[in-house]
Amino acid sequence: MLQDQFNRTVKYLRVSVTDRCDFRCVYCMAEEMQFVPREQLLTLEELNDITRAFVELGVNKVRVTGGEPLVRRDIDQLFASLGQLQGLDELTLTTNGSQLPKYADKLVKAGVKRINISLDSLDKALFKELTRTGNLDHVLAGIDSAIDAGLKVKLNSVVLKNRNVDEVTALVDYAVTKKIDISFIEEMPLGAIAEHARDEEFISSEELRKIIEEKYQLTKLETDNSNAGPSKYWAIAQKSSIDSDVATATPTQSRVGFISPHSDNFCSTCNRVRLTATGQLLLCLGNEHSVDLKAVVRNYPKDTQRLKQTIIDAMGIKPERHYFELSDEPEILRFMNTTGG
Ligand code: SAM
Ligand code: SF4
Repeated sequence: MLQDQFNRTVKYLRVSVTDRCDFRCVYCMAEEMQFVPREQLLTLEELNDITRAFVELGVNKVRVTGGEPLVRRDIDQLFASLGQLQGLDELTLTTNGSQLPKYADKLVKAGVKRINISLDSLDKALFKELTRTGNLDHVLAGIDSAIDAGLKVKLNSVVLKNRNVDEVTALVDYAVTKKIDISFIEEMPLGAIAEHARDEEFISSEELRKIIEEKYQLTKLETDNSNAGPSKYWAIAQKSSIDSDVATATPTQSRVGFISPHSDNFCSTCNRVRLTATGQLLLCLGNEHSVDLKAVVRNYPKDTQRLKQTIIDAMGIKPERHYFELSDEPEILRFMNTTGG
């Protein structure tokens, strides 16, 4: 079992398989990005070996992320091998959706059941502005192909106060129509971006909830502690027209979640660590504490015992919590595409 010094058990690994992406979302990347040379990336075999070591140490949930995981060549082979790991209860993915028409069926075949797809706007022009290089139609086609393939989809939206706040209700409408969940994420100050000041774009989860409640009735759901995720969920019901002074609401099959790294710190129940595409084990999203696992797998190939001991020892430096400041100068210089969102 992987336990840190604050008695938290680590059961969840996020694996970034690339820092590259076909989009350049304004909150995630600078317009001009220097990506890591390919030889510095873990190979698919190394990614598999390190993930297997975590699973043998008690990790039961793995999320593949990036960058955009589905732009990594032969990524379906990694999913196929991870899907075979004994003891892994959940293999999942976070994606921008653009490549899903090509991969949805392969993911299902590998054993993936649920995925997160990022979507910040349903307006074509605004979507383009926010992603710089993204195409909304491709993403909507990706969402449909995931649903058609039988994947349970959850949407993730980052909301920026002066850019896409007017999209919030339309995004919830869309989630309700598709019978899927949606989570709104407060922007985090990871990496230096030029396009906007992070503090000027901040809008809290509570403000977003009020906007949604103008149209929908939201009922808070008990947090599922077994999953210890940072998202707090509300059930969505459709408000009906007022009938003889009694307002009624019809339940929908969707829930709305809020991930609030600023306004509602969730570190005390953190059960996760992250592996970057270059093999750094990051113990916390908002701190730089890390251990170089690539050095271990390259210097001592197939020495599983050494790899596992390094992972166990790394738990000792997992920080108690993050402190995000929305100042102009980010404290964390790595971008979210490096961290693996
Ligand atoms: N490319 C995939 C995608 O966009 O879903 C996976 C990687 S992306 C880094 C993972 C998630 O991180 C996305 O939902 C994205 O919106 C979110 N994200 C990126 N930068 C962020 C930031 N600065 N603050 C909060 N969320 C961020
Ligand atoms: Fe790419 Fe995802 Fe970052 Fe957008 S959020 S630039 S899709 S890695």
